[in-house]
Formats: sequence, structure tokens, C-alpha cells
Amino acid sequence: MKDRAGRFLRPADLIAVAAILLLAGALWLITGNRQGETAQIVCDKEVLYTIRLSDVKEPYEIRLNNGITVAVEPGAIFFASSDCANRLCVRTGKLTRAGQSAACLPHKTLIRVTGRDKAAPDALTG
Ligand SMILES: [Zn+2]
Repeated sequence: MKDRAGRFLRPADLIAVAAILLLAGALWLITGNRQGETAQIVCDKEVLYTIRLSDVKEPYEIRLNNGITVAVEPGAIFFASSDCANRLCVRTGKLTRAGQSAACLPHKTLIRVTGRDKAAPDALTG
């Protein structure tokens, strides 16, 4: 058995490899599939933050000075909290794909997700 264990991958290795492949597959589905999705936080028509979601390694939060907290996660962005009345923005949930957006109308704040390709002309045209 020892001899065999030396020549072949041990079950623990196989599990590790499988886990890595699964993780890579999941990451590909979430981010790699549409490489470099970029989120923009727009407040009163001004782009405050531009975040490449695929570059996010650790979740963090951005506190805007209008009572809104935006949460950023690897591959996702969303309104974490807001002091607006209806909190529709928070209820919109996570944005993960290009084309998705969430808005907080009372605070004139918008989060939108664009693909990398679309982000470039966007920046040019303003
Ligand atoms: Zn809101």
C-alpha cells in the first residue's frame, strides 16, 4: 500500500485537487466568464469609485458621506445599508454581472456593473 501511495495521488491529494478545480470552476463562472467586470459607484452623476470586481480579494465596505454603505466582495457589489426611507437599494441585493445596476433614488446614488470592454468607451464618453 505504501508503494502504491507513492506512485499515485493519495485520496487527500485528490480531494485537494478536486476542491481547487471546483473553486476554479466556480470562480470562472462568477468572474472569469465575463472577465474584468467593473463596478462603478455613481453619486449625483459623478463617478466616485470604479472597482474591478475580479480584483477584489477580501470583502470590504465603502462608506459614502450620504448615509449609504456599499459592500464590495470578490465578484459582487451591493448596497449594504442606507438611511433612505424605502431601502429599495438594499433590497436589490448583490450585483454580480455586467448590465446589472442598483439605485438609491433618494440619495441619487447608483451602482452599476459593466464589462471591461464596455467600461473603456464609457470612460471616454463620460
Ligand atoms: Zn436607498
